[in-house]
Amino acid sequence: VKNKGKNNHCFYSADLSQNAVERFTLENQLRRALARDQFEVYYQAQVSLETGRIIGAESLIRWIHPELGVVSPAKFIPLAEETGLIIPIGEWVLRQSAMQVKEWHDQGFDIDWVSVNVSGVQIQRSNFADTVYGILVETDCESHLLELEITESTVMHNTEYVIDVFDRIKHLGVRLAIDDFGTGYSSLSHLKRLPLDKIKIDQSFVRDLPNNSDDAAIATAINAMAQSLGFTVIAEGVETRQQASFLKKIGCQQGQGYLYSRPVTASEFTALLRAEQLN
Ligand code: C2E
Ligand code: CA
Ligand code: CA
Ligand code: CA
Repeated sequence: VKNKGKNNHCFYSADLSQNAVERFTLENQLRRALARDQFEVYYQAQVSLETGRIIGAESLIRWIHPELGVVSPAKFIPLAEETGLIIPIGEWVLRQSAMQVKEWHDQGFDIDWVSVNVSGVQIQRSNFADTVYGILVETDCESHLLELEITESTVMHNTEYVIDVFDRIKHLGVRLAIDDFGTGYSSLSHLKRLPLDKIKIDQSFVRDLPNNSDDAAIATAINAMAQSLGFTVIAEGVETRQQASFLKKIGCQQGQGYLYSRPVTASEFTALLRAEQLN
């Protein structure tokens, strides 16, 4: 028994140290990735369910790793948040997105906004409203072209500080959306304290539409409540025509998902906008 315990302990610490090395390596690589220009912003279409046309786009970061290839944000955003690197990375995504939407707008493309994901760490640990203002000035981007997505869990405990940051951003004319809505157990009435414009129905409620009656009821209820409070509603993870027509039927205004487009590079997205212009 003693031996076995000892062995177990060895395995355990070996695992731990390997993880620590991997983490350390990843953290160092992440630290250098910005300077080495290894990040890229992909864009995914957001469409009007009414017309089927592209009205906006969500920015989704990718790490183009020299050896690993395209690394998903799910693999590095949590570490970036733990280490605080999300603050410079998030600022970079915001600047990139503002420059890009301004360019599309100046070129006459019919796109109303780009929506950028913002981590709770950016809101809690940086002068985030000042950062947003600074980037709008620096890039000469009109504020209505920018939307920010903040997850429901970030705003669940909406302290006076968070409310103040949101108020200041809203005052700039930048729109605010709640991401992954329905997963954080917060009530819509609770969110009324925040100056929000949009609710994003989490993809977990969209996946099994229209056949799963629980999900159908949840999506219907979220949409109805959100719209009665004056919020715009977008559903994410729309992959099939059946999902889209159900969402359209319940009056949901916007959709996003593989049915319309995967996240693509800026130049591929420009091609999508150009193709739409011809329709
Ligand atoms: P999210 O904000 O909820 O983004 C939606 C995710 O769903 C994206 O994954 C997107 O590619 C994926 N998706 C879009 N349409 C469909 C669909 O029809 N079906 C399915 N199954 N998935 C779909 P992605 O790009 O891997 O991003 C994962 C998460 O990483 C994001 O989730 C977001 O939380 C985070 N993230 C991405 N970019 C940034 C960023 O610039 N800053 C921060 N703070 N977080 C980011
Ligand atoms: Ca998002
Ligand atoms: Ca989401
Ligand atoms: Ca999510």
